[in-house]
Amino acid sequence: SLHTRPQRICVLGSTGSIGVNTLDVLGRHPERYEVFALSAMSRVDALLAQCLQWQPRFAVLPDASLAAQLRSQLREQGSRTEVLDGVDSLSAVAAHPEVDMVMAAIVGAAGLAPCLAAAKAGKRLLLANKEAIVVGGALFMQAVEQGGATLLPIDSEHSAIFQCLPEDRSTWAQRIDHIVLTASGGPFRQRDPATLHEVTPAQAVAHPNWVMGRKISVDSATMMNKALEVIEARWLFSLKPEQIKVLIHPQSIIHSMVVCRDNSVLAQLGTPDMRVPIAYGLSFPERIEAGASRLDLLTQPALSFEEADERRFPGLYLSWQALRAAEGSTAVLNAANEEAVAAFLDGRLRFDHIHRVNAQSLEQTLPQAGECSSVEGLLGLDQRARRQALALIAELGA
Ligand code: NAD
Ligand code: MG
Repeated sequence: SLHTRPQRICVLGSTGSIGVNTLDVLGRHPERYEVFALSAMSRVDALLAQCLQWQPRFAVLPDASLAAQLRSQLREQGSRTEVLDGVDSLSAVAAHPEVDMVMAAIVGAAGLAPCLAAAKAGKRLLLANKEAIVVGGALFMQAVEQGGATLLPIDSEHSAIFQCLPEDRSTWAQRIDHIVLTASGGPFRQRDPATLHEVTPAQAVAHPNWVMGRKISVDSATMMNKALEVIEARWLFSLKPEQIKVLIHPQSIIHSMVVCRDNSVLAQLGTPDMRVPIAYGLSFPERIEAGASRLDLLTQPALSFEEADERRFPGLYLSWQALRAAEGSTAVLNAANEEAVAAFLDGRLRFDHIHRVNAQSLEQTLPQAGECSSVEGLLGLDQRARRQALALIAELGA
């Protein structure tokens, strides 16, 4: 191994789908990794169980009363884990001098500040939290560069692209003609678009190929997830909007592709299992066992491809629109979408109105000069976009 001592990792969002998969991979390699901090938003019981199993130095719960609850339960069990509260504690553990790597697996723009803290502190930053880079944009990439951080994509599509590229980033621009992000098409790929207004939250979160958190599952059903991934790819691989294409591939076996200048196409394949990109982020440039089953092309159903229909998936096309609009428009799109998805899951908004809120927000909430040059500015823009989206949601009703 490259490492002389176990790498210390901070898992932000450890009780979520990515968090749990991360701990699963870590548990396969106790000699390589040590859990330094865990964090969650709620679910004290789940975080308690994780703390007892992993015995991290710190556990973070932003809410003070939940943190107090966890603290007393841990003390009862004789645990030495220290419980921190307040949102700033997420950034504090992410930037802690004893931390080597941070798994950013919080959902939404709430993960931006801890990602920036980890980036500025020069950590290896494993980015699952795509909303953070969609909101942070150029500022996010600057923090990575200035802090000397190593940014590794965990989103399966971006991990695939990264795996198809050489380690030397200075060669990327020369060799890439464009990339193709694959999309499963989600649960409504073949549903009559005229019936999308009837979709219930339970139907929307039932994804055919992946088990994920509720927010990303709804995003997969609207294909806003792919829209966020187009924006994420723009920053991770410094591409122009027209260099990013999307293709529906219902089997989710090809995780994405790079089309080179010479028309050679590089793809990364595997069974759909997030532990593979997580393990790659953890072990890069080495490779470690991830727990995933091996792809068998002889028993695997045939691979197929379709174009993403704009009438069925209009949200996807907002990504290129936002990338070509004023800087900060991608933050507006993300904020509107977070509020629209929360409202849909809460029974306050129809499924097909998620797109209306997103499209109208892009038209109405215009970023102002200078708003994108600081995290305070971006979070102000994010709040403004949320208020306007909430007004639209109230107008539309359920
Ligand atoms: P999830 O809802 O299952 O888990 C989210 C985690 O973050 C939980 O631990 C939760 O307690 C915590 N959290 C939520 N809101 C928070 C807040 N405001 N402050 C602090 N902590 C908070 O979500 P997930 O599916 O694990 O997704 C996490 C991120 O990874 C998302 O950005 C998602 O788009 C991305 N991602 C997920 C998958 C997947 O397979 N699940 C794949 C690719 C990318
Ligand atoms: Mg993805």
